[in-house]
Order: sequence, then C-alpha cells, then structure tokens
Amino acid sequence: MKQERILLCKPKMCDREIDFIRAALADDWATPLGPDCDAFEHEFEEFVGQGKKGATLSAGTAAVHLALIACGVGSGDEVLVQSFTFCASSHPVTYLGAIPVFVDSEKETWNMDPELLEEAIKDRIAKTGRKPKAIIPVAFYGMPYQIDRIMEIANRCEIPVIEDAAEGFGSRFNGQILGSFGKYGVLSFNGNKIITISGGGALICEDAEAKKQIMWYATQARESYPYYQHEAVGYNYRMSNIWQVSAADR
Ligand SMILES: *Cc1c(COP(=O)(O)O)cnc(C)c1O
Repeated sequence: MKQERILLCKPKMCDREIDFIRAALADDWATPLGPDCDAFEHEFEEFVGQGKKGATLSAGTAAVHLALIACGVGSGDEVLVQSFTFCASSHPVTYLGAIPVFVDSEKETWNMDPELLEEAIKDRIAKTGRKPKAIIPVAFYGMPYQIDRIMEIANRCEIPVIEDAAEGFGSRFNGQILGSFGKYGVLSFNGNKIITISGGGALICEDAEAKKQIMWYATQARESYPYYQHEAVGYNYRMSNIWQVSAADR
C-alpha cells in the first residue's frame, strides 16, 4: 500500500493577499510600521483576549529572545526548556550565554512533564544554590501543555513562564488561548506554522508597559529623542508592514 505523506502546515494563500500587498506597496508602506501593522496587532490582541497585548516581531525566535531578556536572563543563568521541541525554543537561551536545562515530556500531551519540572527546579537549586531564571513549555505540534499544573509550580517557586506556543496559534486550554497564561507567550507566523505571513512572530505580553519594553528592545533600544540616542543594546526585530498585510483582514 502506498503511504500517504501528510505535510505539516503547508502554506495556502487565498486570492486577497496579493491585493493587500499591492495596496500597501502603492501607498509606499514597505516599512516595519504602518496601518497594516496596527490593524494586525489590534485583531491579534482581540483574538488572544485576557486584556493581553501583542508585540509583533520579525520571528518567533526573536520573540523567545526578547522574552528571555525581559525576564532578566543573562550569562551563566539556567533556563528550564522542554526537551521535545524545535531548536528555536533553546537557541536564544544560548545567545544570552545562559544554559538550557532540558525537561522531559509526559505521555498525555508529549509536552513538559510537571512532575519532572518540579524535580528539575529542586535539583538545580540543590546543585547551584540558584533558581532557574525562566521555564519554557512548548505546545509541540500545537498540543496544549498541562499549563494549570505548570503555572501552579511556577507561581509557587516564583519563576516566570515563557510559553512557546509557536506551533499552537489558536490552541486553547480550558477555553483560554495558549500564550496568554504565562508572563510571555511566543507565537510564530513562519511558513510552516498555523497561519503564515511568510516569516514573522509575536510576543504576547501582560500589559501595555511590558509590550512597550519589548518593542523598545526590538527597535534598537532607541530612546525617544529627536536624534539617535541609545543607552542599551537593542535589536532590529520588528515585523514588516508588507508581511502583515497578508495577515490583517481589513
Ligand atoms: C517555529 C518555532 C519557533 C521559532 O519560530 P520562527 O518564527 O521560525 O523563528 C520556536 N519554537 C518552536 C517550538 C517552533 O516550532
């Protein structure tokens, strides 16, 4: 019997994207800001709900990176990461000179095992005298992790959770959108994800203040002066307006 190959999230365009892209180009909005960025962010925040804010970025990997920075992760720190995942969950930990400590999965969801998570936290405190700086569970293939149990442990131990829901845009746990439980939630709009705009990502943030800090890092840490003033190291991680036109349903 011939085996059928099931492709993972093959991109499918409808015929409206080309009109939106043409309109954006005709208006010279080929920038990392513009009306389509605003429209997409607005719709995105409405979809996520819970009063959360969404910072749209150039990639899901960039979202992981900035969330780690905002959690204060730096050189020599440890971050607990789900072991069964795509490399982008842990690469940004390494960018920062921090150390990913991998936590195995449970059989029910194939995602981070809450019991092993608790064991890992105790083990790291016993061995290093320090708490891990963040916890990254991953919604592998979009399947929700046991976020109620993970949040209970994280809150009790006072360690921030960065949900990597890059593969799980729209997945819910008890009716609530993944990425809106933790301190930050990572989403990806790469070509192989649930919805795509070619490449891009977003970080779900707790409030407008947190989003402002993320966008500041994503905009080369530029201070608000009429000239270029930079007092910290920043990144060029903003999403292009051209990409967003294909996602915003105006
Ligand atoms: C795709 C993916 C990312 C990174 O997203 P990009 O937009 O491709 O940078 C991060 N984590 C997981 C689990 C992913 O599958």
